Amino acid sequence: MTSTLITNIGELVTNDPALGDGSFLGIVHDAALVIEGEQVAWVGVASKAPPTDAREDVGGRAVVPGFVDSHTHLVFAGERSVEFAARMAGERYTGGGIMTTVAATRAASDTALRAHSSRLATEMLASGTTTIEIKSGYGLNVPDERRLLEIAREFTPETTFLGAHVVPPEYASDRDGYIDLVCGEMLEACAPFARWIDVFCDTGAFTAEETRRILRAGVTAGLAPRLHGNQLEHGPGARLAVEFDAASVDHCTYLSDADIEVLAASDTVATLLPAADFSTRSPYPDARRLIDAGVTVALATDCNPGSSFVTSMPLCIALAVREMRMTSAEALYAATAGGAAALRRDDIGRAAPGARADLVLLDAPTFVHLAYRPASPIVARSWKGGNVRG
Ligand SMILES: [Zn+2]
Repeated sequence: MTSTLITNIGELVTNDPALGDGSFLGIVHDAALVIEGEQVAWVGVASKAPPTDAREDVGGRAVVPGFVDSHTHLVFAGERSVEFAARMAGERYTGGGIMTTVAATRAASDTALRAHSSRLATEMLASGTTTIEIKSGYGLNVPDERRLLEIAREFTPETTFLGAHVVPPEYASDRDGYIDLVCGEMLEACAPFARWIDVFCDTGAFTAEETRRILRAGVTAGLAPRLHGNQLEHGPGARLAVEFDAASVDHCTYLSDADIEVLAASDTVATLLPAADFSTRSPYPDARRLIDAGVTVALATDCNPGSSFVTSMPLCIALAVREMRMTSAEALYAATAGGAAALRRDDIGRAAPGARADLVLLDAPTFVHLAYRPASPIVARSWKGGNVRG
């Protein structure tokens, strides 16, 4: 197995407090890192690096763990710029536009869906994202939900069945019939291609009882739960997520003190999606309240054509710092280790021996530039499983 030394790293963020300066980011200055095959084999001060087959000097720049985008709806067709423009002209977002994307997605060929997803995944990798989660939810019938997950599987093992995104119009007068379908034939067809089950538990989407029923069916089929919740109003999402030991509850804009207390005492991550709040001109979640209470926070793009047509994790970091009052360090941690926790993975989200060699080289002396220089192309390159990409 070939070993490569990456050396002259001015600032290496490991996310392993045992390795670095004692902070939760585990920063090592004047650092080096050895990649062996798909993994990180060694991390430390450059002067103490072991001999390797190959060597690369990165000129004093910063290296951080690859971003983990734990919430995307990447497989879809069409775009909704008209809806965006209308919303920016003053209309309130209520989630009604999802059916526009469902219609376009159902009509698209596999080849077109695959090509579009590939273009977005390439954009993500170029901005430093080395792991993505992808949800279904724009098929809303058995063959299309299954097809979306089959295509998603070509891009990531982190695939999520979201048949319970909204009730499609053909079931408008038979909600229970749709939920029967989601929990029955649709789940059976989709489960082989999914790791997770998700429900949009919010105003205008699914109620607490419906969510419970769908999650129970998913868990019985071998899927692990996660939830969309507390995006549009106060509601039961966060508490339900904890009740089911979900890996994550996503959005979390409207949380009560009781919700936060329950989350803090659980293994459920609060995933914040600032690009969605930005793109819908909605209030940002109170990240400080969550972090100060001890809740694990993740950041993700929520990439989708309606409420967040954003692929950039650096933009999410910048928004989290500027608009949500997270520190630069907290935002980077949430976009890497936080995302890994939201996918219940310990092999990603850190740059430490034994982890996957998923890394990002920044054209900057420090990770702080991710928020300090928003929209600048400071991601120089990514390594995914030890291979240079982007
Ligand atoms: Zn979403």
